[in-house]
Amino acid sequence: MSCPRIEVDLGKIRRNTQTLVGCLGPRGIRVTGVTKAVCGHPAIAQAMLDGGASGLADARISNVQRLRAAGMTGSITLIRTPMLSQADQVAQSCEASYNTEILVISALAAAAIRNSSVHGIILMVEMGDQRDGILPENLADITQQVMQMPGLALKGIGTNFACLNGLAPTALQLAAFCDLANEIEGVCGPFLKIVSGGGSTNLPWALGKHATGRVNDLRLGEAILLGVEPVSGDQIGGMHTDAFTLVAEVIETDAKPPPSPVALIDPIPERLRIEPTSGASKRMILAMGHQDTDILGLSMPVGSTLIGATSDHLVIGTSRPMPTVGSEVRFQMNYNALMHAMAAPDIKVKLLGVPPTTPSRHTQGKSDHLALV
Ligand SMILES: *Cc1c(COP(=O)(O)O)cnc(C)c1O
Repeated sequence: MSCPRIEVDLGKIRRNTQTLVGCLGPRGIRVTGVTKAVCGHPAIAQAMLDGGASGLADARISNVQRLRAAGMTGSITLIRTPMLSQADQVAQSCEASYNTEILVISALAAAAIRNSSVHGIILMVEMGDQRDGILPENLADITQQVMQMPGLALKGIGTNFACLNGLAPTALQLAAFCDLANEIEGVCGPFLKIVSGGGSTNLPWALGKHATGRVNDLRLGEAILLGVEPVSGDQIGGMHTDAFTLVAEVIETDAKPPPSPVALIDPIPERLRIEPTSGASKRMILAMGHQDTDILGLSMPVGSTLIGATSDHLVIGTSRPMPTVGSEVRFQMNYNALMHAMAAPDIKVKLLGVPPTTPSRHTQGKSDHLALV
């Protein structure tokens, strides 16, 4: 079988989505499935929808186009503020987009009119992450401008936490965000259909004891895909953390003595070298390297240690019986490793788990081809 490859258990992704939808639904919060870490892979997106996600979102228009090309007709939102140069593509393939710049918003309005459509706008508000977003004091003004533009429909507001600064949101920040939703409706008059509270880092808040106020949507990627809460890295109760497995092939085995200390001196930090510990004196080399994934984001198999990696080689020490050349070694990935591996041209994606619903003839034909993409 093709190596290196990612094996994806679609059933686990579907069940992770179901678990989150089941917990958040009673609190009035819908789940938008975020597909950017899997480059908009259509079957993975479908598993999210099958698990009850109310729509899909991605940060890149190329990923949205991939979903559309595979026959996805449901709602897809662009969650990174669009590039001015891509306004037409965004209006053509996305129901709505998150926005922070009035120049881009007016370009989207013009593009929607050219496309004879209405493009949904969700205004991204900066509540402390210090990445993208409109400052709360400017929100009312921009809201009014959006409402006056033909070709657009103001859908709601959103915010983002723990992306740049890595800090989990506080209940106080989210309460302030909910107040903003009420204020905007009071001042400008629109009903905000979507009040999107953030991503997977918001789950401890959303599943906590207190009321979740106006927030009625979360955009979830990592929690669905990896079953963990991003800030702590902890498993979320009842969720699968092993929906994805990276498999690489052994191309050399030896019992070379541990490298001499001189060999360890390497001025280039990327050419990482970690001395084997725990008596892992036998080494194997796998056909996979920095070009394929974030090596530091891999969990090593039991009894193995990472010795080092280069662009195309992964050197592992093991205290276990040495696998033979040609055998396969399996790794779990963190979010960074997953994101890089899914985008790597030499890594194939192998889908496991039969979808629960019978796909239409159209998507069925497609999915035969999509088994390895
Ligand atoms: C990536 C992203 C998300 C999803 O984040 P996860 O931590 O994967 O849940 C949500 N919103 C925005 C704007 C994003 O860029």
